[in-house]
Amino acid sequence: MPLPRPHLPDPSDDVPAAEPVVESPRKAPKAAKVAKVAKVAKVAKSADKLAKLGLTRDIDLVLHLPMRYEDETSLTPIGELLPGETAQTEGVVFDNEIAYRPRRQLLVKLRDDAGEELILRFLNFYGSQVKQMAVGERLRVRGDVRGGFFGLEMVHPSVRPVDTDTPLPQALTPVYPSTAGVSQAYLRKAIDNAVARTPLPELLPEPLAQAYVRRLGLPPLAQAVRTLHHPSADADEAALIDGTDPAWTRIKFDELLAQQLSLKRAHEERRRRTAPPMPAASNGAQAAAQTLSARLRAALPFALTGAQERVVAEISADLTAPHPMQRLLQGDVGSGKTVVAALAAAQAIDAGYQAAMMAPTEILAEQHARKLRGWLEPLGVAVAWLAGSLKTKEKRAALEAAASGTAQLVIGTHAMIQETVEFARLGLVIVDEQHRFGVAQRLALRAKAHRAADGASDFQPHQLMMSATPIPRTLAMTYYADLDVSTIDELPPGRTPIVTKLVSDTRRDEVVARVREAALTGRQVYWVCPLIEESETLQLQTAVETFEKLAAALPELRVGLVHGRLPPMEKAAVMEAFAGNEVQLLVATTVIEVGVDVPNASLMVIEHAERFGLAQLHQLRGRVGRGSTASVCVLLYGGPLSLTARARLKTMRETTDGFEIARRDLEIRGPGEFLGARQSGAAMLRFADLQNDAWLIEPAREAAARLVAEYPDVVAAHLARWLGGREQYLKA
Ligand code: ADP
Ligand code: MG
Repeated sequence: MPLPRPHLPDPSDDVPAAEPVVESPRKAPKAAKVAKVAKVAKVAKSADKLAKLGLTRDIDLVLHLPMRYEDETSLTPIGELLPGETAQTEGVVFDNEIAYRPRRQLLVKLRDDAGEELILRFLNFYGSQVKQMAVGERLRVRGDVRGGFFGLEMVHPSVRPVDTDTPLPQALTPVYPSTAGVSQAYLRKAIDNAVARTPLPELLPEPLAQAYVRRLGLPPLAQAVRTLHHPSADADEAALIDGTDPAWTRIKFDELLAQQLSLKRAHEERRRRTAPPMPAASNGAQAAAQTLSARLRAALPFALTGAQERVVAEISADLTAPHPMQRLLQGDVGSGKTVVAALAAAQAIDAGYQAAMMAPTEILAEQHARKLRGWLEPLGVAVAWLAGSLKTKEKRAALEAAASGTAQLVIGTHAMIQETVEFARLGLVIVDEQHRFGVAQRLALRAKAHRAADGASDFQPHQLMMSATPIPRTLAMTYYADLDVSTIDELPPGRTPIVTKLVSDTRRDEVVARVREAALTGRQVYWVCPLIEESETLQLQTAVETFEKLAAALPELRVGLVHGRLPPMEKAAVMEAFAGNEVQLLVATTVIEVGVDVPNASLMVIEHAERFGLAQLHQLRGRVGRGSTASVCVLLYGGPLSLTARARLKTMRETTDGFEIARRDLEIRGPGEFLGARQSGAAMLRFADLQNDAWLIEPAREAAARLVAEYPDVVAAHLARWLGGREQYLKA
């Protein structure tokens, strides 16, 4: 298994390297002066390139650890080489020719002492290489062995001219993450020099070193670093390579410690900023009953679930504090996050502030507007709706209402709210489906919110982010850096579970018949068109064709079509017609993926379900099962399925629990892909892998808490050592 270091390319994988593969120990004396000038220029260039790798300080080089190791400690005689293995061997060149068929290439033939032969094949090469591998030269080569037409060969092996008595290395050779133009040899030397001149004193105070490092059987940092750069001859090779060696664990612990410290620091910084305190209720029972929050609760057609009550209380407590809340509300699809958001908004409005709610798509924003207006306008709240589709006059009115403060709640898409709106007294920002946004967008939003909350310059609105991609708590803590997390882990009562069926595309006609049957008995149906990642145009075309075919096959039904390219007005009209049960079958692209809530819809067909990811399928399926009728989700699949597609569909059939689906998704894809490297916490980790090293997070958190409380000086030193310039990610 490779070490968990995804950020940098492995230079030795780009076979046609930009520099000669041969590392010659000899230099032609005549060209010495020219070479020297060239060398200075090259070093300057290499330093630039090191900077690009983020290696500007000695300590950065010291902590630039190998991504893997090569075993160059032994030689395999050519006669014992096996195709498919990576090996090192040695021999003398007896033939060296440039062939032109099928394309220009250099063929070098080696013969070892036993008389066995091996071909070296170079598709890209320099003149200098041809010379360095001249007939009669003795070469030590390392590469992948394969069976060629003329016998065993290596394509682009690494090559080193040697003498008969050149010793073999005693230990594993480190291979560093690099970039084009920085050779391993150069990097190795730069790192060795940096290691030699950089003392690495133990920063952890004695009691902590005892409690966390020695108790876990881990070496001091300086020793760990030495071991990893230069494994000793008797090192446990397997443990070094799979990342389980105690030296690696020490590195990961220190890295996680830096991450946790930096989270704590961001948290403290947040506590130093001020936000409007929004008391949960004024004094006296009678006054409390008059609050908007109380009246909203009383007007709701349902009682909150226990889980909703809990998160409402968590959010309410945050809003009461004079520091900006930064809370992530996670809850499965359909768990009822919207009403929690509405109650938070009510608390802000009660306190005399404005709230803004934004959603990633216009369809969803529109739906929120409809729902929240329904709840809040009868209670006298002024809600403004901001959409790209508004007429200029309406838009101007909405913007004015936000700027003057007459609008108490403003709902719109992110684009609208972030770019165009000024607020009079913005106190709370609610971001729905936040998992759709990355660090950069969150930073932009924060900057905007900051400016919007005029008055004192360090005054910031509270932020509530909502997500239906639930993740385990430790992951949430590490990935979403500075967010507090609230979780709704219970669905509202009265939901009948969704039955999921896997049906082959060949039985499409039967599925169409079922759609007819369902619609004629008063149920509403979604038909989700296949995802075509390569081409949006093609996807659109498919959606239109599907719509036409279904409309023709089902003349007795009213069929609607909604997709991303539809003008917003039409989109809204179609959604409204579907919500009002005027349309019975809605053909849709994934624009309906998030948030759409039409409880009467109880059948969903997803075409080519095998092309969708698990999270997406779960989100889509979450559009049904929102009412009391038993819902069915039909996953149509076509063609032979890949192993992962099969695993995904099987998961969908077996469970509707979003946490369980997230867990399996994590298992199938790993956390990097699952959450996207965009999330701030992950960007800080180069060595620790949140899946395999999750057990280290807790000790790192504990140690961080103790450092902050007892040894503030050490905090700064540890952060400087580990993070350098990467800390800005945490501000998100
Ligand atoms: P999501 O968490 O996916 O955003 P929604 O907020 O859209 O879920 O809620 C899904 C549906 O459940 C909505 O129709 C909503 O009105 C309803 N709902 C929310 N809370 C409750 C509850 N406690 N009891 C019954 N229905 C509820
Ligand atoms: Mg929602």
